Amino acid sequence: MIKIPKRIRLANLPTRIEKLDRLSKELGGPQIFIKRDDQTGSEISGNKIRKLEYVIQEALEQNCDYLITCGGIQSNHARATAAAAARLGLGSCLVLRSSGNDSLEGNYFLDKLLGADIEFITPEDYKERRMEIMEEIKARLVQQGHRPYIIPEGASNGIGTFGYYTGMEEILEQEKQMGIIFDAIVLAVGSGGTYSGMFLANKLLGHETKIFGVNVCDDASYFKDRIYDILQDSFRYIDKTIDFSKDEISIIDGYVGKGYALSTVEELEFIHWLAKLEGIILDPVYTGKGMYGLVNEIKKGKMVGYENILFIHTGGIFGLFPKKDLFFE
Ligand SMILES: *Cc1c(COP(=O)(O)O)cnc(C)c1O
Repeated sequence: MIKIPKRIRLANLPTRIEKLDRLSKELGGPQIFIKRDDQTGSEISGNKIRKLEYVIQEALEQNCDYLITCGGIQSNHARATAAAAARLGLGSCLVLRSSGNDSLEGNYFLDKLLGADIEFITPEDYKERRMEIMEEIKARLVQQGHRPYIIPEGASNGIGTFGYYTGMEEILEQEKQMGIIFDAIVLAVGSGGTYSGMFLANKLLGHETKIFGVNVCDDASYFKDRIYDILQDSFRYIDKTIDFSKDEISIIDGYVGKGYALSTVEELEFIHWLAKLEGIILDPVYTGKGMYGLVNEIKKGKMVGYENILFIHTGGIFGLFPKKDLFFE
């Protein structure tokens, strides 16, 4: 048994794995399954809550009473943090990237409803000095008598990694129950923490499932470095390390499209098509691009040899609403 950090239980786990019969038939190749991590909860829904279970446990052990984090205006992570904070009676402050003129929609609307303090910063400040800005907010809150804790973007750090370490353990258990082996797992990559956790568990537990990340921003080389660093940070929490090279981190590049949180017509049409075909709603920022990537790789013959592919539905439904006017044009 590998000893990993403790967590606070917040998510509805385990999440179901379902087979996508019509999609599999349509593509005529591998059997495609989907893990419904979009159903980890409602206010807290999506992948971030798995990471937050470990991060917030650490925060509570440090006796914190305020969570500070950051993200884009429609950040699922910021919304999940605000929801978890309210659920636990903690304060929350969200530092959101905005270029102005954001309508009160989707995650941002929920952030307000959940009582989070919101501070907007420009995309430049977000890129260059978001950590500094969160430190300033922390100092201000300390002066007011609070005990704040800063969660980095996406909760993608060493401790957050254990969210999907446990997620991978859950999948291995489900494989046994279902009598199936997933030879490839595919997921969208935005800040790297989800991929890191799955990769860590796969290695440490001696499994040989191929894990593919479809990046939704930056590029493959950026994420290989980023995931490598997150994994190094995660080793601080366990008494083991793993030997691996960056080449083993498999990132499928080429599906960023117009850029982070921007949608092409093809991506939106794909989301609509899959919703009608399978009754599964993907989000425009992450899972829409991730699944679009997977389907296109299968069509191009790049996934030959994989018989059972598991796609992780990491959530994000609220991000669809601000884009409703782009559909059905
Ligand atoms: C954040 C997010 C991801 C990406 O996960 P990372 O751990 O940040 O790489 C994927 N899907 C959804 C819906 C997300 O909100």
